[in-house]
Amino acid sequence: MFPANFDYVCPASLAEAAQFLNQHSEDAKILAGGQSLIPLLKLRLAAPQFVVDLGRIAELKVIRETNGGFEIGSLVRHVDIERSHLLARGCPLLPETAAEVGDMQVRNRGTLGGSLAHADPAGDFPAAILALDAELTAASAIAQRTISAQDFFVGILTSALYPNEILTSIRVPKLGPRTGSAYVKMSQQASGFAIVGVAAILTFDEKGKVTEARVGITGVASVPYRAKKVEAALRGTAASAKEIAAAAALASKGVDALSDIHASAAYRRDVAAVFTRRSLEKAAQRAGRK
Ligand SMILES: Cc1cc2nc3c(=O)[nH]c(=O)nc-3n(C[C@H](O)[C@H](O)[C@H](O)COP(=O)(O)OP(=O)(O)OC[C@H]3O[C@@H](n4cnc5c(N)ncnc54)[C@H](O)[C@@H]3O)c2cc1C
Repeated sequence: MFPANFDYVCPASLAEAAQFLNQHSEDAKILAGGQSLIPLLKLRLAAPQFVVDLGRIAELKVIRETNGGFEIGSLVRHVDIERSHLLARGCPLLPETAAEVGDMQVRNRGTLGGSLAHADPAGDFPAAILALDAELTAASAIAQRTISAQDFFVGILTSALYPNEILTSIRVPKLGPRTGSAYVKMSQQASGFAIVGVAAILTFDEKGKVTEARVGITGVASVPYRAKKVEAALRGTAASAKEIAAAAALASKGVDALSDIHASAAYRRDVAAVFTRRSLEKAAQRAGRK
């Protein structure tokens, strides 16, 4: 199927893009990697008057090391994250997550910013971004603001971005000593999207007790979430196999689980507990748990 007619706009700078969106926010759609937008246009689920391609804005394609972390431009592609030596050393959760997205063709075109702005409840990156407690920067012609990962995902295919805003970068912390991370998922076989995806980060003190636990879960509910009950159950423990299993059992407690042709709500809940346990086990091992 062909998309409805639209005007293609390709601004040369962020300021130009922001200015254009400010004037046409209700009639325009941003184009990044096109892996989600183009199917939407072809199915005529979206029919904007303008498609605004960010592809010429070089500053959005950079991964930078900052004081204590990394700043990743929204147009950085999944494949660039997967292969980044900088991130592999300081924030390996992101390359591990990127490697799980779709297939090579999707990873060659799709971008981190597009994935997050699209807010697919089965997308992989939201789990990692939540576990990392990332900060997202959004810019319009009028202002710039920072949105925490926990406030960013609002509903199915709905983020906290305003129609005139561009997601410009994502800031994540460098993982410290005695810290391990992991992303594991059960994927839907045809697309690779997560039926359940769990990102876990564990930090231990010198005596082997958990000082920090953060768990992001995607695929289970209409909005990806931090599993705070799991996190609280682990803090102060040694993260033994028994303690991890007990905490992981809380993965979907109090969450309204989705039910669709791929999995029932009850199945998603069961898988969430199993994959949370696996993700935490991996993270603990990688942290060098005593
Ligand atoms: C066959 C297939 C399999 C896939 N499998 C997976 C998978 O296993 N896991 C997974 O997580 N994803 C998967 N995806 C989705 C893929 O990761 C997309 O790359 C991603 O969802 C969208 O990124 P994009 O850069 O292509 O954005 P686009 O498609 O260009 O845009 C998506 C949406 O975000 C908006 N947008 C884009 N960039 C910005 C920005 N900087 N600021 C504000 N709004 C913006 C657009 O207007 C649009 O509404 C798959 C896609 C396909 C086609």
